[in-house]
Amino acid sequence: MSLGNGKRTANTERWRELREQLTPDKAVLKDKKLIREEVNHRLVSGLQTANIEYDSIYNEEKASSIKDSDLLSMLFHRMFFYRLNEKLSAFECDHTFHLSDQILTQMQFGRGKMNEILEVFKRHGGDCDCEIIFKVESQLIGK
Ligand SMILES: [Zn+2]
Repeated sequence: MSLGNGKRTANTERWRELREQLTPDKAVLKDKKLIREEVNHRLVSGLQTANIEYDSIYNEEKASSIKDSDLLSMLFHRMFFYRLNEKLSAFECDHTFHLSDQILTQMQFGRGKMNEILEVFKRHGGDCDCEIIFKVESQLIGK
């Protein structure tokens, strides 16, 4: 006995739904409030619970070939650059690390780790908040 076409389609649909429930990381959040929650969650706890569109601009091949790749990729996935972009669209860069300091504090890094991160930014030409976006984030994203 074989299943009719209609039934097979229904089963396929159901299987797809189940699969999406089991692998929610495949879904990309669209809702602004949910995106904001996910960003805060990643900043503070470092845990990713869903995908957002920003994740897709990460270029693994590019990012893995640069110096300090692990640290910079961790900062990308924990939304450091995303939040810095947000802050820079609201406040002008005053050519210090003022905004980066705020974000790294929110991420609960100690002073020692923060200094290490700022040294890495400087090594890559990121000598202030806006330069971090132009010279450091740009090495991790895009083509
Ligand atoms: Zn600047």
